[in-house]
Amino acid sequence: MNKTNKAGQRFGGHFILIAIALIVFAGWRIGQAAGADESENGSVDASGEAVPTVAAEDGGVAATAVTTDTVDFTAGDVPVITDSSLVPAPNPFTYQGKLPEQVYQTYVVQRGDTPGTIAEKFGIETETLLGGNPQLSQESSLLQTDVELIILPVDGVLHDVAPGDTLESISEEYGIPVDDIIAYAPNNLEFPYRLYPETQIMVPGAVREVFVWTPPDLSSVGGTSYEGAGVVPRIVGTGTFIYPVNGRGFSQYYWYGHRAIDIALPEGNAVYASDTGTVTYASWNVYGYGNLIVINHGNGFETFYAHLSGINVVPGQIVYQGNVIGYTGDTGNSSGPHIHFEIRINGNQDNPCWYLGCG
Ligand SMILES: [Zn+2]
Repeated sequence: MNKTNKAGQRFGGHFILIAIALIVFAGWRIGQAAGADESENGSVDASGEAVPTVAAEDGGVAATAVTTDTVDFTAGDVPVITDSSLVPAPNPFTYQGKLPEQVYQTYVVQRGDTPGTIAEKFGIETETLLGGNPQLSQESSLLQTDVELIILPVDGVLHDVAPGDTLESISEEYGIPVDDIIAYAPNNLEFPYRLYPETQIMVPGAVREVFVWTPPDLSSVGGTSYEGAGVVPRIVGTGTFIYPVNGRGFSQYYWYGHRAIDIALPEGNAVYASDTGTVTYASWNVYGYGNLIVINHGNGFETFYAHLSGINVVPGQIVYQGNVIGYTGDTGNSSGPHIHFEIRINGNQDNPCWYLGCG
């Protein structure tokens, strides 16, 4: 090195440092934009082809890439810098809190399982199965064989943090004090209590709301006629209900997350109209019911018959108590052949046992 040319050396040194910084910054930006998998010896471009790595020291080649934000990744020969040794240190004024650290047991649903038996196995409330597995609250039929469930360590709800969520909004949503959420250690919440989208926060003691699907009303299937100001159904049920199947092998009773009864029965058994009424729905249902029949009884009551293997009726059809309307099956979210039977009064799911006497 020529010691006499100090001015030039210093100037050159600065230029090289600036160039290196720009290159590293550009490489970082490119890496971010492409989301590429970086490796030690190269990286993958957007088209999936390997691209050669340019060493940060090789300033002259890559410096031109700095000037533009748009990089053509289809070319296949774009230099990508993977040496991040000169990337600026994180800004100390940007607070970075800890992410939640939660580890959960899981359980794979076996044929014949019910939420009650699984909850009992793990010593949790049945409602807590909903708390760890939002898909269970999307329909009323629940478990499907071979699906993996998250078993929460304490009773509550595992909340998916969405952009805009705050501790206060979550507290309000579930009716659980903010302090209870902070106090749950694995949430790793430290002042100033920042939440991170795409993470999950445990809300101890909370119960997840259950989605309830609403069938079409009578008028949509021509089941009503109009007399004066009121809507009068074409046919009104007796107000009494019979069992929808001959079997009495209850596999699930009514609870918060399952407002129905399940009776296990081999596929192909007759399903009877529990009371006289008009069919308002008779087809596949995407909310887990599988093949579903809904009868509106014209007196505020509706009955649901789910997971059927066959359907005998069409919407708008009048059926009488005891008519065969379909056949038992294992369709939709089901862990074995059974009938899922609901009685709704003015849209609310009642316990069918109150009407049938399940003793
Ligand atoms: Zn059911």
